[in-house]
Amino acid sequence: MAKASDSQIEDLNSLREFVIEVMLAMGAWSEEQLTKLTAIDLGVLKRNATQRHGVTRWRRGVTKPSKPEEVEVIDLHPRLISEKWKPYAAWVMHHEFVHALGYTAHDSTFRSLENLWPSQESSQMGASFTEMLRAEKASWLWVCNTCQKEYPRQKPGKGRYQCRICRTVLVDVPKPASQ
Ligand SMILES: [Zn+2]
Ligand SMILES: [Zn+2]
Repeated sequence: MAKASDSQIEDLNSLREFVIEVMLAMGAWSEEQLTKLTAIDLGVLKRNATQRHGVTRWRRGVTKPSKPEEVEVIDLHPRLISEKWKPYAAWVMHHEFVHALGYTAHDSTFRSLENLWPSQESSQMGASFTEMLRAEKASWLWVCNTCQKEYPRQKPGKGRYQCRICRTVLVDVPKPASQ
């Protein structure tokens, strides 16, 4: 968990308004449930988080979470707060809202509620988002000298990996430090 700036909070709040509008149109949720979502505190994950793009944290002492009132905070990755990633940010927030509404496990009920989100392309942006975070953190490029594909990674590959496209053994090249 990191401290969100005022402008991040503002952006998260307007994202929430948008997500709730979409959820209202789904017809799966009551006005009452959706109103409770507006009271949840929103925050940001640490900037260097790569594994998670959003998280619902429950209040201390809550052993069987079942409703929005039991949420301590929902954190989103700070890099999601931008025009470019907005469709994916909305998808992630919706995913967390389904958790907040009491569906804590990623089971088939959860997945069917999650799939009510109208844009399936936005969920597919997740892979590119992960790739961007990974590229920024990378100190090495594993380079394919056959098809020129580059794989940004944190550690050298030491000849242990092959190109996913053409199966050539990848060569380590230190990545120039970025800004
Ligand atoms: Zn989840
Ligand atoms: Zn290749």
